Amino acid sequence: MTRYSINGTEFASNSPLFQAALEGAYKNRIRPICLCVEPGLPMYIAHLEKNFVVKRMPDTGASHGPGCESYEAPPGLSGRGEVDGQAIENNDQGTTNLKLAFSLRHNNPAEKENESTQKTTAKTSGTRLTLRGLLHYLWDESRLSHWSPEMQGKRSWFAVRSALMEAVESKETKSASLKEILYIPEVFDKAKRNDIVSRRLHMLSPIMGPGKSGKKLMLVVGEMDSISAATFGFALRLKHMPDFPLVMDADLKKSFEKVFLGTQNLWDYIPDSHQVVIATFVIDDKGIPAVEEMCVMCTTPEWLPVDNEIEHQLIEALVEQQRSFQKQLRYNLPPDKPIATAVLTDCENAPLALYIDIDDLVGRWASTVAINEVVKSNSIQTWMWVPRDGVQPDLPPKKGMPSQPRQRARPADEEQAEQTTLGDSAGVSEPTVVGAAQPGGSDDVLSDWGEPAVPAAFQPKRGGNVSVMPDPSPRLAEVTPIRPSLPDVSLIPFKPGFGLTGPVAPVAPSETIEPQP
Ligand SMILES: [Zn+2]
Repeated sequence: MTRYSINGTEFASNSPLFQAALEGAYKNRIRPICLCVEPGLPMYIAHLEKNFVVKRMPDTGASHGPGCESYEAPPGLSGRGEVDGQAIENNDQGTTNLKLAFSLRHNNPAEKENESTQKTTAKTSGTRLTLRGLLHYLWDESRLSHWSPEMQGKRSWFAVRSALMEAVESKETKSASLKEILYIPEVFDKAKRNDIVSRRLHMLSPIMGPGKSGKKLMLVVGEMDSISAATFGFALRLKHMPDFPLVMDADLKKSFEKVFLGTQNLWDYIPDSHQVVIATFVIDDKGIPAVEEMCVMCTTPEWLPVDNEIEHQLIEALVEQQRSFQKQLRYNLPPDKPIATAVLTDCENAPLALYIDIDDLVGRWASTVAINEVVKSNSIQTWMWVPRDGVQPDLPPKKGMPSQPRQRARPADEEQAEQTTLGDSAGVSEPTVVGAAQPGGSDDVLSDWGEPAVPAAFQPKRGGNVSVMPDPSPRLAEVTPIRPSLPDVSLIPFKPGFGLTGPVAPVAPSETIEPQP
């Protein structure tokens, strides 16, 4: 539990006295101090509709302790680094200006073409958020990309929506505040239907009515229910919005199937997964809402976004093992740009960036070379899983817990061979590091627990030196050799067509889709 100092008095964030203390501090313009690190970090207080919330100062997330509620992994580990400070600008008044790469005006085809060109430019420079970039930003800001064991069983659509609604506060776009233009469906309740419809009409009124219809667009974020044929083209239905289907024309539907085939397959494949939709839509003069552009994101049952099945396996394992971590998101970045999958925040040497190198297994994600480049520039320690090698390295144990190795399948001679290549940034298997670890010291303490020693890379930093894994010495610059042996297919439960034995699914371009002009 995070502790704060307000005017010299210490409070735990779950203390019943904390709200009153925040209210007093808000009125007297006193900054609470987060005590997660010495000598503490100043915070600010936001006054939301019902309560007061402590928020970290802009760009200080990575300065907080990894166990702190305000900790945020360094932006360079995800797609956030590319857009921070450009597409996402925090100002001194506590508001954030967002620059969007998509239009909130219904344009004629000529304008649209011009805009597409600009969008391509924006995509590469990170100066504007694509629809997916915005959705990932909202997921990070609402901490839906974060996970800790106490969240188990508590993430309903009500909780997801509430978190998103809070995240939308104080976010501005060029044309309006995000709060005014983003609709997130309420939990549908038949008994409260009339109230829900009235609130929705009120929310959508700025884009309806004489002189407005068919011109301005709004955004919607919700969970995909279905896309089905309708008399007017296709109907996109979102969960909790059964009475308000959005029209998709035939071209948009066709592009959607092409662009998001991979995401759709993943959604079908992962049990209880969710497919989150973000779309811009217009309401015509007959009151019919029609989708203009859209993007979808597949999440685990816990609403943690995943890009592919291997990433899902790791996230599922982390949730099962009751770990605390922050899922890293791509924002505008295409699939071939390397990002960390997650950052573990509960181990002895947290934060620890978790990477997966699946390039040669699936053939459309970041290359081994690119991943090694990005790992080298990391300022925090790194864990790497190379699925083509067949074995997932053990995860470092939780702080204060003994190591619990999951797999011990490697032949001894292979392990021996690897001990000579320490520094190869492929998955650091435990025997490799134990072989190279110095005798005595904390290894003895760990062996008292009757468990194998924790890999050196996962042990706490010693002597105040910043130790970075992998070691940035020249030998680490070597590219991980691609082993000639075939991957152990049995470890990867892909069905044919997912890239192992069958044809590789078409690459889903990272961007949003819109109707053909
Ligand atoms: Zn803190």
